[in-house]
Amino acid sequence: MLKKKSPSNSFDLDNNPVTKSIPNNDVVKSKDAQEEPVLFGPEVQSLMQRMVDQGSYIVHPKVDSKGITYPEIASIFPNKTEAESKEFLDGLVQSSILNSKLLDKVIVCPTCASASVYSKYNCPRCSSFDIGKASIIEHVRCGFIGSLEKFRKGTQLICPKCKGLVTEIEYKKIGTSFECNSCGSRFEAPKISHKCDSCDDVFTFREAKYEAIFEYSLSEETKRSLAGGRIPLAAIAATLKRKGYEVGIKADLVGKSGATHRFDIIARKADKLIVANFTFEPKEEDIIGLFAKKYDIDPTFTLLIALSAPSKEEEAVSKAYGVKILYSAGMKSIGEQIVKLVEGEKQTKK
Ligand SMILES: [Zn+2]
Ligand SMILES: [Zn+2]
Ligand SMILES: [Zn+2]
Repeated sequence: MLKKKSPSNSFDLDNNPVTKSIPNNDVVKSKDAQEEPVLFGPEVQSLMQRMVDQGSYIVHPKVDSKGITYPEIASIFPNKTEAESKEFLDGLVQSSILNSKLLDKVIVCPTCASASVYSKYNCPRCSSFDIGKASIIEHVRCGFIGSLEKFRKGTQLICPKCKGLVTEIEYKKIGTSFECNSCGSRFEAPKISHKCDSCDDVFTFREAKYEAIFEYSLSEETKRSLAGGRIPLAAIAATLKRKGYEVGIKADLVGKSGATHRFDIIARKADKLIVANFTFEPKEEDIIGLFAKKYDIDPTFTLLIALSAPSKEEEAVSKAYGVKILYSAGMKSIGEQIVKLVEGEKQTKK
């Protein structure tokens, strides 16, 4: 029995009793709107959208001559200064949208804020950088103490004070210390200074800035909210509408059985009906749940949209049930993937 697609009667979106209609203007308001806290302002939405598109849910720091920066934020908000980007991220941590994780701390130049800083050892007496580590030995016979280097004459050791030849049993190892090649003083610990590779400023630890490097990731609450679909669905709907689809978000269809089924996205163009649900990680129960609805609705495409890639098992299960898993992988947005799937397979029979 070959069933013809008939999108205009059994599941006519416009006459659906539960969903008001599929309007041409904005997103269809969900009946479940109260379940999804409105915690995302437009800037946060842009960030979430970017994360979904790229399939990456972490904001990574970059440490270089520009200091500690967050290039992902800079690319979304080119007008934000680095300080404003950091403020933005910290604000999101305060409102529990993001979690921050302390990765490391780095020395930052007090003059130009570069993190390309290296450390130097200096003589505590004359501040010369020309110091070296020295093994200190004592010539037992005359009591002279000096660095091994000062005893060395070719392959032999000669005492600089008594000029006697020093054999291995005639000296005592005193220890290791630093020695200044400029003023000759010996010291246990050098004075440490820092030099900025960007502006050449030299500064002490007192003057240095010591800054934390954070990595930011989505909080569990935000993940749940994202999986609820607000952000990605709006973007997917926008793409589909641009391509001439009628789109409903969190909309309902009535199946052959007379039962009403809710989908995160319902899209229609010509004789193609696409239904999709949204999940953070694709799970077998999501696939099977969709299959049951698919059986009753009989759409052209049944999709499970995930924020992360399915495992081999889930891939196999989805094939068996005729549910296609789409996930954001950074290359193509989900909306574009759907268009390609639907319009690239015009000849495909259900
Ligand atoms: Zn500097
Ligand atoms: Zn000697
Ligand atoms: Zn010195």
